[in-house]
Amino acid sequence: MTEPQPLPHTVLVVEDHAFQRRTLVRVLESMGVARVIEAEDGSQALALLAGGTHRVDMVFTDLDMPTMDGMALMRQIGQHAPAAGLVVLSAVSPDLLAAVQWLAREQRINLVAVLSKPASAKAIEAALRCSRGPGRPGQTQPAAGRAAPTFTLDQIGAALSAGQFEAFIQPKVRLGDGQFAGGEALARWAHPQHGWVAPVAFIDAIESSALIEPFSLAMLESAAGAVRWLEDSALPGRIAINASPAWLDQPTMAERLMQTVARLGLPIERLIIEVTESVANGNLAAALENLARLRMRGFKLSVDDFGTGYSSLQRLVSSPFSELKLDRSFISGVERNSPRWFVVESTIALARNLGLETVAEGIETQAEWQLLKDAGCDAAQGYFIAKPMCQADFKRWSRAHGSVPVSGAVALSH
Ligand code: C2E
Ligand code: MG
Ligand code: MG
Repeated sequence: MTEPQPLPHTVLVVEDHAFQRRTLVRVLESMGVARVIEAEDGSQALALLAGGTHRVDMVFTDLDMPTMDGMALMRQIGQHAPAAGLVVLSAVSPDLLAAVQWLAREQRINLVAVLSKPASAKAIEAALRCSRGPGRPGQTQPAAGRAAPTFTLDQIGAALSAGQFEAFIQPKVRLGDGQFAGGEALARWAHPQHGWVAPVAFIDAIESSALIEPFSLAMLESAAGAVRWLEDSALPGRIAINASPAWLDQPTMAERLMQTVARLGLPIERLIIEVTESVANGNLAAALENLARLRMRGFKLSVDDFGTGYSSLQRLVSSPFSELKLDRSFISGVERNSPRWFVVESTIALARNLGLETVAEGIETQAEWQLLKDAGCDAAQGYFIAKPMCQADFKRWSRAHGSVPVSGAVALSH
């Protein structure tokens, strides 16, 4: 994810301060951006984007501008340039930055970076070549300035029939003693032309179609190899399977899942079903019934991306969960005694009082590892420990780390 990317071809600079705007334009041109266009505020920027004369790959915008500020621009940018990477430049407080990140996520904007002003040439160049962004919580993003390949439902359906979807596994470890604690199955498409394709390019299409059930069952089938591996090697932990709200809302979901688990002969105690907090207007009754049925049959249930939904607490106390996964947006860059730190700490305490285990998603640094450990979080998952990997690599990784505790103090090999 951190590999340098080719420069975007067309960059739009939105800045009300003429001198700062021209300086940034010159810096971008000197770095080799082929075309740099300018706007004085959000409304001019939108007019340029809506005009359609230029296909904009990346937008650098100030936050505080007259008439239409950077946040108002963010709200609308997705409609006009959905694939564009966004870099926000501002001299704002960390609280406001968190709000910007939140907004970007909600709008599914590919927020590449938030740079404080004046930004150094190095930071600007890194942003130009960087590929990180939000999207759905935790989602692996396409490179900034380049759209993820888009696929039709027919293509996705054909790939599903051809068995091209595979469960990669991202390991989890216990924060207290560094013990291996299983992993999460994450879908990857072995695309004949594009190589490994991440869920961002296909999951939304699948979730809004009838493919959601066959896809979910195919992923379970693929993940079965990892489940058997844990069992046969007497390794601790479970394999987590993602069940999207679109599937959970279907009245037959629990039954179909249980049938498949029985057909594959998988031990239920080796599985945990991750459910993202559902947004309103789903079929809540059916979802709750499915969850209760699964729990009754002995499946462990996990609330995924906790903190990003709309009814977190309500959902938490009314459903039979046994694990809570703190979303990456709370973990990434968290600092001790910051507002996010207090949320993390009290969420962990709340989970403990409710008898839930906690998992921190998206741990990327030693500092985050230490903070979450200090906050009493049970387990961790993230690039600092290991990226999602194919099952052959997962077997090697878990064999190597299964009996040797990993610790935040050592760089973990993967
Ligand atoms: P999720 O279930 O919350 O999965 C965690 C995501 O965070 C994964 O993205 C993982 O690669 C990413 N991640 C883990 N650690 C780090 C980190 O340290 N830094 C960063 N930047 N990212 C990290 P991925 O694989 O792209 O999956 C995105 C989402 O797609 C998943 O979010 C899940 O909602 C959905 N998804 C993936 N596989 C399946 C599946 O088989 N079925 C369903 N229904 N949804 C799936
Ligand atoms: Mg998950
Ligand atoms: Mg998650």
